[in-house]
Amino acid sequence: MKKIDWENLPFGYLRTDYNVRCYYRNGKWGEIEVTTDETLNIHMAATCLHYGQEAFEGMKAYRCPDGKIRLFRPEENAKRLQSTCRGIMMPEVPTDLFIEMVKKVVRLNQEFVPTYESGATLYIRPLLIGTGAQVGVKPTNEYLFVIFGTPVGPYFKGGFASNPYAIMRQFDRAAPLGTGTYKVGGNYAASLRANHLAHEKGYASEFYLDCKEKKYVDECGAANFFGIKNDTYITPKSTSILPSITNKSLMQIAEDLGMKVECRPVPEEELATFEEAGACGTAAVISPISRLDDLDEGKSYDFGEKPGPWSTKLYETLRGIQYGTIEDKHGWTMEV
Ligand SMILES: *Cc1c(COP(=O)(O)O)cnc(C)c1O
Repeated sequence: MKKIDWENLPFGYLRTDYNVRCYYRNGKWGEIEVTTDETLNIHMAATCLHYGQEAFEGMKAYRCPDGKIRLFRPEENAKRLQSTCRGIMMPEVPTDLFIEMVKKVVRLNQEFVPTYESGATLYIRPLLIGTGAQVGVKPTNEYLFVIFGTPVGPYFKGGFASNPYAIMRQFDRAAPLGTGTYKVGGNYAASLRANHLAHEKGYASEFYLDCKEKKYVDECGAANFFGIKNDTYITPKSTSILPSITNKSLMQIAEDLGMKVECRPVPEEELATFEEAGACGTAAVISPISRLDDLDEGKSYDFGEKPGPWSTKLYETLRGIQYGTIEDKHGWTMEV
């Protein structure tokens, strides 16, 4: 193990020893390359720099109490990346190649997978960019797929906690028929200002309503949303939400725990009826929402200062599966 202070890691970038790369040229993927170089040398006319041909993924490697390192549903990340590739006209990275590269980067950087006790993990960032020179607006024919890892601290330093979020109607993250369902950098660029303002005002993150009518709930910045009432897990259905693997897993766990599950449009007024609410994603698993403030309408929805019973149960179950301490009956984890 490296001499790293695992207890005080931020969610930032820390250099690891290796990253893995694969180039797409002449209509096919090449061999996997391993490098210690943290930089990319690319053409100034590369399409990723000009026209946003850039896709990414986010996942984690967990050091488990049984000593093994596990990944959580990596084939889902591969499938989502393939969907993003189709969405912005890039060649799809085959699932086998994706998983081989993820395993390789984790094995090569084993010493950077934090201890179980620290609550920290190795965050894995697969990145696909258009590298061919192109000035006309069209997809290029050369791509680079790179995966690096970086240790990140636990999301909740003082334990599982609730936070307030801000509905800001003057911002949209993604258009209804735009790229919201794809994990592309452009959606993040569009969210930076709202996110910055929300932080300035003391919120955990900005919260989006549908951008066509501002009537329905979309998602919480870079995390999906769910509400709970009458033992039912309710999550919005919309054409601009990024399909979260955490949310998909929580829907299954909710069902396994005996809850009802609904994925449907959620009108803003319904927020007032939820007993619990949360944001979900790889980073936090669940980040319970204490309060949702609709800043423009001067309305506020309260879900309690402490995580509710269902949110806590869902959080503990998903974390238990990820760390191999709860039976993985759906075969979601993969040992590295
Ligand atoms: C990545 C992402 C999520 C969370 O997805 P997970 O697969 O659960 O990590 C949610 N919303 C947006 C906008 C995202 O980019």
